Amino acid sequence: MNKKFLLLIGTIWFFILLTGISIESSTASLQAGRESNLIPEFSGKNAYAYLVKQCDFGPRNPGSAGHKLCRDYLIKTFQQFADKVSTQPFILSYGSPPKQAKCTNIIARFQPEKSNRILLCAHWDTRPWADKDPDPQNRDKPILGANDGASGVAVLLEIAKIIHRNKPKTGIDIVLFDGEDSGVGGSSKEWIQGSSFFAKNLGPKDRPVFGILIDMIGDADLEVYKEANSWRYARPVVEKIWKKAAELDISDFKPKVKYSMLDDHIPLLEAGIPCIDLIDFDYEYWHTIEDTPDKCSSKSLENIGRLLVNIIYSHE
Ligand SMILES: [Zn+2]
Repeated sequence: MNKKFLLLIGTIWFFILLTGISIESSTASLQAGRESNLIPEFSGKNAYAYLVKQCDFGPRNPGSAGHKLCRDYLIKTFQQFADKVSTQPFILSYGSPPKQAKCTNIIARFQPEKSNRILLCAHWDTRPWADKDPDPQNRDKPILGANDGASGVAVLLEIAKIIHRNKPKTGIDIVLFDGEDSGVGGSSKEWIQGSSFFAKNLGPKDRPVFGILIDMIGDADLEVYKEANSWRYARPVVEKIWKKAAELDISDFKPKVKYSMLDDHIPLLEAGIPCIDLIDFDYEYWHTIEDTPDKCSSKSLENIGRLLVNIIYSHE
């Protein structure tokens, strides 16, 4: 080994050391919780673990044992991250003959003193019946809801953790709606009961600048089309999201309007809040007992999470 070679190795080590120090100090300043313009990383792997954790409670349809366990878990998890966690209990009426169940919207607020706010939401309950299952014998069974229920919540739990560590300039409200998926007919009164209750009880100071609902975004084969009601009533928000997705090179976002959804964004739109629905409705396991974690991927969760994090941290 000659001297020049040693000098070269020494120089390389010096640079590695320097880079290491600068990476460490930027992480430290992020963790201090100061407001920052840096865009934090979103881990799809962590989000996927949150998806599996919810499914481990079993089906989370209102009134079930899994529903109760999952509610307590979600509240406890948010309490680790949010500045303020509150719950909104309400009674769900569903099924025929009609039944009732106790339901709970879960609200996590970050920097509640800020008036400039973004709302992020998803439903956490799962459907009581797999009525789209190809096997008629399964149609009375509750679904596990890995994609339809757990996926949106999983991304929002990971985002809550990120916001806790890196204060954005904007106030954030994360709301998990209950009682979304127990409808049987086409009437909105049967579906989306948690978001309807939330919108009805929204105080004048709680109104966000805009909202983003995520639902069924865990599909391993993710394709998100523009949703018709979002496009019609909250077009600037749709355009903002699709523009950011293009900037980030996320090809799961398709430029066409495809489905018109009766989903949790509707009561918010009716209350005058521009809230859009990010949903992949082309999911062959929808409302079947096959809606299980193996049909979902950490990559899909990561793409949605990365996009939302970029929206949060670039918003002034
Ligand atoms: Zn559903």
